[in-house]
Formats: sequence, structure tokens, C-alpha cells
Amino acid sequence: MPSYKAPVEDFLFLFHDFLKIQERGDLPGFADMTRDMTSAVLEGGAQFCEEVLQPLNQPGDEEGCHFENGTVRVPKGFRQAWRQFCEAGWNRLSAPEEAGGAGLPRVISYAITEMGMAANQAFAMYPGLTGAAYAALWATGEPWMKEHVAPKMIAGEWTGTMCLTEPNCGTDLRLMKTRAVEQPDGTYRLTGTKIFISGGDHDLTDNIIHMVIAKIPDENGKLHDDLATVNFFLVPKVLVDPETGAVGARNAVTTGAIEKKMGIKGNATCVLNFDEAVAWRLGPKPQKGGAADERSKSAGMAGMFGMMNIARMGVGVQGVAIGEVALQNGVSYANERLAGRALTGVKNPDQNADPIIVYPDVRRLLLGARAAIEGGRALIAWVAFLSSIEQFSKDEAERTEAKDLGNLMIPVVKAYLTDKGFEAANAAMQVWGGHGYIRENGMEQFVRDARINQVYEGANGIQALDLVARKMTSKGGRATLTYFAKLEAFLKENEKDAQIGALIPALRQGYADMGEAAGWLMNNAPENYDHAGAASYDMLNIFGIVTLGWLWARMARTAQEKLEKGEGDPAFWKRKLVLARYWMERELPNTGACLARIKAGADTLMELDAAHF
Ligand SMILES: Cc1cc2nc3c(=O)[nH]c(=O)nc-3n(C[C@H](O)[C@H](O)[C@H](O)COP(=O)(O)OP(=O)(O)OC[C@H]3O[C@@H](n4cnc5c(N)ncnc54)[C@H](O)[C@@H]3O)c2cc1C
Repeated sequence: MPSYKAPVEDFLFLFHDFLKIQERGDLPGFADMTRDMTSAVLEGGAQFCEEVLQPLNQPGDEEGCHFENGTVRVPKGFRQAWRQFCEAGWNRLSAPEEAGGAGLPRVISYAITEMGMAANQAFAMYPGLTGAAYAALWATGEPWMKEHVAPKMIAGEWTGTMCLTEPNCGTDLRLMKTRAVEQPDGTYRLTGTKIFISGGDHDLTDNIIHMVIAKIPDENGKLHDDLATVNFFLVPKVLVDPETGAVGARNAVTTGAIEKKMGIKGNATCVLNFDEAVAWRLGPKPQKGGAADERSKSAGMAGMFGMMNIARMGVGVQGVAIGEVALQNGVSYANERLAGRALTGVKNPDQNADPIIVYPDVRRLLLGARAAIEGGRALIAWVAFLSSIEQFSKDEAERTEAKDLGNLMIPVVKAYLTDKGFEAANAAMQVWGGHGYIRENGMEQFVRDARINQVYEGANGIQALDLVARKMTSKGGRATLTYFAKLEAFLKENEKDAQIGALIPALRQGYADMGEAAGWLMNNAPENYDHAGAASYDMLNIFGIVTLGWLWARMARTAQEKLEKGEGDPAFWKRKLVLARYWMERELPNTGACLARIKAGADTLMELDAAHF
């Protein structure tokens, strides 16, 4: 069975040496986060994930969820683990204190999320989606929801879901058929079928709060293929009295089926049927007759996009998490497995073969994954830190900059890190040779589990389109210009630096490729949008490669300073320096290939008639 050791030391490095969160006592929750405090929280979370969640991962995959007589049961051990998880408070670290949360900075809660996802993604998705759901409720809900519903979710007594996908649409939500009709008492009756709903039903808790999107029909009862008519609703599985918070009858929400699927089998993926279910609309009422874009800017829809942003960050974390655990098991196997002799002479004379870690090609697999995972973890920590600055900084300019950079990075976090997580899981399985393909060894489960991360919460191709068509260009490209300016300043400041100057030329070339790609798009996409569609994936990859390169250069600077001051463990700093060099030598050159593909445009992709594929 695979094992897992949470990377506590790496988190402490990121938070206290790299981001220096302890210097931001002006932000709520940060003043308490001394290194000792952070360490205590992380060690506690690590122990729980390593000892309780990880041992349930492989059995949960073997057993899966059960659907009998309309009832969903999670795998053995999950219910008890859920109770322990919530009692210890791991599900609510960053939730607002006034609702029963611990109010800790998001950087900390994302670290615990990563540990949970690495130990057992199927389990950790239940609290993960609940967290996204209660955050949206907290942002957009009416006072009674904040009083009676959100605290139950935060306490772990109830869970939450996100219900967007329908049989005929996942990406194009304009096509949805679920409708919500307003009643004289101000509630709605919601009817339709949602599919693939993670944690849509289970026996972990007595109630589930579904956060559902549905269309409001026009006065003639007709639905329009117009996103402006899509609204955001709260639909409890068991009804809640807004006055008292008391639970009452079952709402008209039934589970049609659970999916048999490739991975994350311990997480129930459900078909949910809403049959005139009682629903409460989130956010202010749509203005009848208002312009479409005016109505679509309702606080409710903003809440939904906020929920999706949190969920997308969470999925990026899943990518890093699975990559980490798979890699750990790949490394331990590479140190044990004996095969052949090192190309440069015997390394293990006491035995008849050397461990496979002596081979450059095995190291290529492991080091590539290691550099992507630790770089990805740094990206998540940075974006989580930005989200606290955006929310709480007293400096408006700093808030705006944090918001711009955070928004720009969300599709990169979601898509680039889940691609890298999948590649890492695949690389670790490759290191195990044929044994990696054998189920009982647990390596193929990582590959199966990691695969969904590239699909849900908006398929990765859609994230790339979001980056190119929306995030890079909105507000006159303000976020992109901020990003460029910061990167340019970093390059200028460090290219003659005795410590990390050697890392800069590769990063500068990557940045030049990025700028050239953006310029090519500006010149060519307006006349043919297919050029933007054809370029989007490569553009997202350039962003991923360059951003991780930038983070690696900054981490290398910290490592070098620590080495020179004689602080900490020299082996840890040396390792960081090698990984930074790896990124510059072996990943950054890929931006050139991305640029060449972008400049090839869309013509070849679009030439063949659909019938000739
Ligand atoms: C295990 C699992 C759990 C899930 N959990 C949830 C959940 O909790 N809640 C929920 O609401 N949904 C959930 N989903 C649904 C998931 O989010 C969707 O499957 C996903 O967003 C893709 O939608 P789709 O399957 O309809 O694919 P489609 O929209 O049909 O897309 C198919 C392919 O075409 C591409 N494509 C589509 N449109 C475009 C375009 N305009 N330009 C370029 N390419 C395009 C996509 O990138 C994709 O590769 C889950 C799915 C699975 C499998």
C-alpha cells in the first residue's frame, strides 16, 4: 500500500521564509501565525491525514460508494473519519469566526486541503465542496441563511454541493433546462436534472445544501438561451425553516443514480432530480426588464463565480496533492528497486544491481515532477496570500493589484497544475515499471484519481480560453500589464545578482516568448478568433512555465540567502537550488515551442472538413 508524509517543512518554508506571512499582521488572522503556531497546525493536520485519511484511500477506491433503494452510502470508515475530521475542526480553518470557523489565513487552510487531497482525494472532496458552498452562501445569502444554514455547514453537520452540470451541458451553461419559478411567498420551485454532482448524496450528514444554478423563465414560462436568465439558488435536501432554523420535511430532491467511474470512487457522483423543489434565490432580485448584462451582474451570480473560483483553486490543489503523494511513492520505489548498473560505474557493490534512481532517465521523471509540484505549491500559496490581501488590505491599490493578479492566475492554477499533477502521477507510475500497472500497488489509482482534475470545474481547455479571452484582456489588459511589470522589475533587479543571476537568462527568454505570443495574438486574433482558440492552450502553458520559473527564481534567492547566513538545513536549501536550475534548464525552453505553435495560427487546425477527421 502506498504511504504519505505531509510536506510540512516545505509549507513552513513557503509561508515563513518565502512569503513571510508573519510580516502581515495587518491582515486578520495573520498576527497569530508565528512559525511555531503554523507548525503546530500543520503537524496536527499532517498526523490526521497520514494516520486516518490515507489508510482509507485504497480501500475506499476498491469498495466505492453504494446506491441502494434511493440511499447513498460512502465506503467503510468514511463516516467515522468525517466525524473526527469535523470534531478536530480541519473543515473550517478559514471559515469566519462569527459562524464558528477558526478565521485562519487561507494559505494555512489550503495546506491542510492539500494534505487531505493527497491522503484521500475522494474523502477530502466532501469538505472541499462544502467549503466552496458555504463561502458562497456567506457572500450572498440572506441573514437567516447565515444564521441557520452556514454555521451547520461550517460545523460539518451538513455538507454542500455545487450543481451546475446537466445532461446536455457542462461547459455551455446557456443551454441548461433547469427552471426556477417564483412563488407568491418569494421562494421558488426548482425543476430539472443535474448530473455528475460530487457529494450529491451520501450518509455522512443528515442534510445537504445544494447550491444550484437554474433559469428563471419569462412571463410566458419560456426559457431563453441567455446567461442573464441564469440565477443562483439554495436548495436544501431537507427543508429548513427560515424563522427558526428547524429542519422539516424532505425537499423534492431525489437521487437518480450514482456514477460508476474511473477514479475518486469514494466520492459519490450523483444524478439529482429536482421536482418542484423549494428553492431560495441568492442575491438581490433580478430587475425585470433590465438590460441582460445588468441582470447578469447580480450579487447571486457573483457569488456563483466566487464559488467557482474557490473550487478552481481547490482543484489546482488536488493536482499538486496527487502529484506529491504519487511522487513520494515513486521516489521510495526508485531507491529500492534494483536493476542493471549505473552508466558511470557500479554504485551499489554489495548487491548484484544498482537502485534505479542512479539512472538519469529515472531522475528526469522524478525531478520533473518534484520541480512542478513544489513550484505549483508555491503558486497556490502565493495566490492564496493574494486572496487575503485582496479581501483585507487597507491599501486600495494593493487590494486591486492582488485581485487582478489572483484572477489572472486562477485558470493557470486550475489547468496547469492539474496537468502537471497528472503528469507527476503518471511519471511516478512509470518509475514502478509493470508493478505500477498492478492495482494492489496503488500507483495506478493516483493516475485514475488525478485524471478528473483536468476535466471538472471547467475542462482545462476552457480554462485556457478563460485566460486568453477574458483574464488577459479584461479592463484593457490591466492584470496582464501588472504581471508583466512585476516580472520585468524582478528580471532587471536580479540579472546581475551574484546569487541567482545565472537563473535569469532562461526566465528572460520565457518572458520574451510570452510577450511575443501576446503581441501575436493582439495582432492576429481580432481578425480571426480561431487564432485565439488555437493559441489558448499554449498561452496557458507559457503562463504556467514562466510563473513557476519566476517563483523558482525567487525561492532560489531565499535559499541562497539562508545558505549564506547558515540558517536552517543546508540540504533543504541546496535541493531548492537544484530544482530551480532544473526548471530553468528543462522546462523554460518549452516556451519557445509554445510560441512556435501559437504563431502557426489556426489555419491547419481548421482546414479539414469535420467529416475527414
Ligand atoms: C467525477 C465528476 C465530478 C463532477 N462534479 C461536478 C459537480 O460537483 N458539479 C457540477 O456541476 N459538475 C460536476 N462535474 C461536471 C464537470 O464539471 C463537467 O463534466 C465539465 O465541466 C465538462 O462539461 P461536459 O462534460 O458537459 O463537457 P462538454 O461541455 O460537452 O465539453 C466536452 C469537451 O469539449 C470542449 N469544449 C466545449 N466547449 C468548448 C468551447 N467553447 N471551446 C473549446 N472547447 C470546448 C471541452 O473542453 C471538453 O474537452 C463532474 C464531472 C465528473 C466526471
